[in-house]
Formats: sequence, structure tokens, C-alpha cells
Amino acid sequence: MSIEKLSSPKVKSILKSHHSFFKSGKTKSYEFRLKNLILLKKLIESNEKRIIEAVYKDLGKCEFEAYFSEIGTVLAEIDLAINKLKKWMKPQAVSSPLFAFYSRSYLYKEPYGTVLIISPWNYPFQLLIFPLVGAIAAGNTVVLKPSEIATHTSSLCAELISKHFDPKYISIMEGGAEIATEILKEKFDYIFFTGGTKVGRIIYQAAAKHLTPVTLELGGKSPCIVHHDIDLDVTAKRIVWGKFVNAGQTCIAPDYIYVHSSVKNKLIEKLKHQIIAFYGTDPEKSTDYARIVSDKHFDRIEKMMNPEQVVFGGVLNKATKYISPTLLDNIEDSDLIMQEEIFGPLLPILVYKEIEDVITYINDHPKPLALYVFSKSNNIQQQIIQNTSAGGVTINDTLMHIGNSNLPFGGIGDSGIGAYHGKFSFELFSHTKAVLNHSIFPDLKLRYSPYNFPLKWLKKFMKWFS
Ligand code: NAD
Repeated sequence: MSIEKLSSPKVKSILKSHHSFFKSGKTKSYEFRLKNLILLKKLIESNEKRIIEAVYKDLGKCEFEAYFSEIGTVLAEIDLAINKLKKWMKPQAVSSPLFAFYSRSYLYKEPYGTVLIISPWNYPFQLLIFPLVGAIAAGNTVVLKPSEIATHTSSLCAELISKHFDPKYISIMEGGAEIATEILKEKFDYIFFTGGTKVGRIIYQAAAKHLTPVTLELGGKSPCIVHHDIDLDVTAKRIVWGKFVNAGQTCIAPDYIYVHSSVKNKLIEKLKHQIIAFYGTDPEKSTDYARIVSDKHFDRIEKMMNPEQVVFGGVLNKATKYISPTLLDNIEDSDLIMQEEIFGPLLPILVYKEIEDVITYINDHPKPLALYVFSKSNNIQQQIIQNTSAGGVTINDTLMHIGNSNLPFGGIGDSGIGAYHGKFSFELFSHTKAVLNHSIFPDLKLRYSPYNFPLKWLKKFMKWFS
């Protein structure tokens, strides 16, 4: 449904139909959830080519990368939900305290109701559908709001979702900030937002008006620390992979390198070597290298690039929205490039002498979404993990923690609130209801007034039974 068709009364009536569909109780059964997860899986499998094409048109993403990052990961998430759903839905028994003896206690997972999912453009299919899997598994009805910037993926998702799902159950509303603002005026039972920190604050404020719980999957500057004791060939390869996949437009891409001064020059040489090995001497000709999503983002990234700091790359072509993989040296904390998330293929390199200085630097800045440490030393690894804060950490690699569904994915502080993936998604989209089932007999008199039980015995009892 496109923006011109979505006036506020229309949004209201869509929401009303979602709320009443949820109240009918249909979405709660295991069979219903399973059926719709299977439907979603089939839908993706049978439209694989169209999804790849749409993502290519939006971002110039090659087929291998598109399948890996947009389709394969989503299918794996659906398979996991299908296999584990029954187990996840089962009420979990927990122990009861002695003062409530003859009782049984449980954790029940109940769906919130109607969930709003707002997504960004950088992995336009994955970041819309991945949370949808959790929302379906948890038994909610869903409104999807894809990014207007990835137009081809947005309209393909709109076509597929409205054709295959009951619009009272899952609907999709296309458009930009204006339509999102209209939608956010309404009361949802949960809001799941992926995007930038600035818009994240707007979402949080809109949710607060209705006391709606939120997950905010935001961005930030993710540091990549390289100590002098590590193999620089593999390190450079893994940094180049994590940084330049999707032309740097990845929320957890290493934003900047913090390298020990003794190996800086060597690392730069290895990085140059790996960029050429991945994309050739002219990455503009490489079919594996993506483009910048829009002119606005092209201009934003160009402004951050100080030609005097470029030690490799620095080639731009506005007509094709191409920015080459670029390394920048002699970086100061006050430089424009260090003021905000880069979200593009520029990689600034900072140096340190003492690891404590890196820890201080990270702690003096907003908490990052991801943090990377390359070091052989368990001591250095632990020092960084224990003394800094970040949404997630990968040691001796980049991006990899996002691919493990046994790990929650999310940020902290400016990089987000809440985390999802795998079972964490199911839990995120479910309210955990506490249930205590107490036996009618025995019915001890001592807890009722008039209180005749001696206080000193009560104190002893409470100590024993806690
Ligand atoms: P964005 O915040 O500009 O937009 C995200 C979504 O919000 C879009 O659907 C957009 O239409 C909507 N939106 C924009 N303005 C709005 C407003 N005023 N009110 C309500 N909704 C509004 O982000 P983007 O440019 O699409 O994506 C890039 C950002 O997303 C980066 O900061 C990146 O780090 C972050 N990101 C985070 C993750 C994660 O999982 N944590 C993943 C991908 C991207």
C-alpha cells in the first residue's frame, strides 16, 4: 500500500482490523504460527531470483552477497523457528518459594498483539523479514514499514506480502518519514525499529505516548582494534571483508581501525593487498562490489573524505554512485570522519601505543553496536571485553557474531535497546507472563489477619524459606 493511499483514517482502519484479528485468538495456536512460517519460507524460496534482482537494483549487490546476506540467513532463521517453535511455546516450569508451598510456578509466553516493524535500506529484505519471523513465531499480527530508499525491494515485499498473507494478519505500508509519522500516531503493542540513532529517538518518543515497548536496533561507530601480536595477513583479509561488503553500508562494519603503532604501516600494506585481491586494481569494474544507495548518502560520505588523509582508493563517480574502498591515515579525533557513523567504504586508521588508551577512547564515546579485537593474547582480549561496553564482540574476525543465532543481536546505549535472533526473537516478541498455581489446601491461617503469629517467628520463617 503506497503513501498516497494511506491517510490517517486508513491507517486507523488497518490497525483496527489487526487488533480484532488478534483478539479472535487465531494467531495464537501452534498450527497457525507454523503454517505461516512455512508459507513465508515457500514464498521466499519461490521468489529468490526476484529478491536478488530487487536488491541489485537498489544497491548493486552481487548475487552471492544478496543470497548470503538477504535470503540464506532469513531462511535459516525460519528453519530454526519451525524446528523449535513447539519447545519455545511450552510454558516453562520454575520452582516456587517454600512460603508458597503446594504451588506450581510457570513462565507463559504470550504474544503482545499487533507489532510494528520499521526497517532500513541497507539489507532491505533481510532487516524487514528477519524480525517478521520472530513476530510470527510469537503469535502476533504485524504491520511492516520497509525503507522507501530501497524502492525496488520495498515494492516487491509489498506485492508478496499482500498477495500471500491475510491483510488483517500481516500488512505492509510503504513510504518514508511522513507515512511512518502517521503510523506512529496509532497505538501498537510493540514497535521494532531498525535504523539510525537520530530516527530511533523519534520512534522512542512516539512509543512513549502510548507506553508501547520498543526494540531499537541502531548504529554507531564500531571500533576494530589490531594488536601487534596477530597474523596481519588473515587480519587484513577479515577486516577488508567486513568493511567493504555492501560497500561499507553495514551497521556492524568496522567503522575505524585502532592499530598498535608498531604494525600500522605493515597493516596498511596488507589491507591494500587484500582490497586488490578482492576487487582488482579497479574495483569499479568488479561485479562483487556494491554501490552507494542514494545521491544523498554519496554526498554525505564524500564530505567525510579528506583527500590529504587518503592513502589508498579515494576514487568517486557520482553518476554511478561509486566510491572505491578507501583507507585514510593520520586521523585526529576531531576530524569530521570521527564525528559520526561512516556507513560507507571509508576506513580511517588510528594508532595506539598502550591498550589502556584504546579502552579510554572507546569509553569516552557512545557505546558501539559492535567491537572487534584482533590479538592472540587472551589477556588483551579479556582486558577489552571486561573494560568496554558494546552490543556484541567478535574476536579475531569481523561481523561473525551476527551469524550465530545462539547469540542475541542488538546494541546498548546510543546503539540500541533490546536484542533479537533465534530464540531471542521469539522471546522479544512475547510477553513473559508469570503464573503461580496455588493449591486450595492446606490453607495456613498465619498469613491472614488478625496476625497472631509472633513476629520473631515470622522473621525466622522468612529467612529459612527465602
Ligand atoms: P533511518 O533511521 O534513516 O531510517 C530507518 C527507517 O525509519 C526507514 O524505514 C525510514 O523510512 C524511517 N524513518 C525515517 N525518518 C523517520 C521519522 N522521522 N519518523 C519515523 N520513521 C522514520 O536509517 P537508514 O538510513 O534507513 O539506515 C541506516 C542506519 O540504520 C545506520 O545508522 C545503520 O547503522 C542502522 N542500522 C542498524 C542495524 C541494526 O541491526 N542495528 C541494521 C541496519 C542498519
